Amino acid sequence: MVNKHRPLSPADYVPADLVQPSVALAVSGEAAQLNSTTAAAAEQMFAAAAQDGVTMTLASGYRSYGTQVATYNGYVAARGQAEADTASARPGFSEHQTGWAFDIGDGGGACGFQPCFAEQPAAVWAKANGHRFGFVVRYPWMLHEITGYYYESWHLRFIGVEAATDMSAKGIATLEEYFGLEAAPGYL
Ligand SMILES: [Zn+2]
Repeated sequence: MVNKHRPLSPADYVPADLVQPSVALAVSGEAAQLNSTTAAAAEQMFAAAAQDGVTMTLASGYRSYGTQVATYNGYVAARGQAEADTASARPGFSEHQTGWAFDIGDGGGACGFQPCFAEQPAAVWAKANGHRFGFVVRYPWMLHEITGYYYESWHLRFIGVEAATDMSAKGIATLEEYFGLEAAPGYL
């Protein structure tokens, strides 16, 4: 469980079982990797989406501590720290570093990583069906005061089929609420 109150420990943690899933890739290198459990679940989900006629690509998976340092520092240099903190996790605080999370795309549409992605078939399908494969949309609409992030319709987190299905059935939208953890709107 990683959020703005709960960094990875150690900060430069590396999953021991990173693999490249057999799915449509929109990236290469480390970003095309996930931990082995998440990779297997992603393969099932992408295949099910394809059977429903929905194109889904892996747009960004694992991100190492070193990559996050470069990404975050780039935002800070361009926009200052306050704006950087709304756009990018600080190093050691990104769910992408766990191997349990990834971003989806839809194969080249103009809405990749944009608000309008929420209306694209891949996001609509993932929101409705992700729980069947153990995934939740980690940063839902208008719950940034709990999660610390504005809506990211493309960012999925694996928590297992049982928990994801339970969350869906109970209508609980965030992991903070589901696990009874404090809201984490910003860094401490
Ligand atoms: Zn993401």
